[in-house]
Amino acid sequence: MATKKQQELDNLQQRIVDEKICPELAAQATQLVFGDGNPDADLVFIGEAPGKNEDLQGKPFVGAAGKFLNEMLEVIGLKREDVYITNIVKYRPPNNRDPLPEEKNAFLPFLEAQLDIIKPQLTITLGRHSLNCFLPDLSIGQVHGQPKRFEGRVYLPLFHPAAALYNGGLRQTLIDDFAKIPVILQKLRTT
Ligand code: URA
Repeated sequence: MATKKQQELDNLQQRIVDEKICPELAAQATQLVFGDGNPDADLVFIGEAPGKNEDLQGKPFVGAAGKFLNEMLEVIGLKREDVYITNIVKYRPPNNRDPLPEEKNAFLPFLEAQLDIIKPQLTITLGRHSLNCFLPDLSIGQVHGQPKRFEGRVYLPLFHPAAALYNGGLRQTLIDDFAKIPVILQKLRTT
């Protein structure tokens, strides 16, 4: 039987459809990519928007960036099933263009509600779009890898795995920042 949290997430997902959020995106997408993983997770990862593979499979981060994310999770002893992964925008933008500000704004209340249901210890933003949804004044180049407490949540801004995948310097920075996650979680649990 689905847990209470899973039922709440299912209801939220249905509301996106019922309330016809971003109908132009919905019309061009194969399906809604709502989120995937453990609703009781301590860690929630938030990307930007689904790409081609995600649109086809209905799950976030299942392409090359997702494979890299899985590898980094494995290094810190976690599997995808241990965490929860989602995006700001929940339909694939055509031709993988950047999500528009109004698209991000339309989905933000649903993302906030997703976080309020899951209540993770640490909310990990992947890339600048995701960071700036919650903390608009911060620059990813300056704050990556540093936990930020804001309005009752703790955020950890990380570079986006797709940006880091083919950029040696950024890739190592992301791997190093990722390695801080268990230490940060431990501190959060004991304070
Ligand atoms: N990039 C994202 O931001 N999200 C995905 O789900 C896949 C790639």
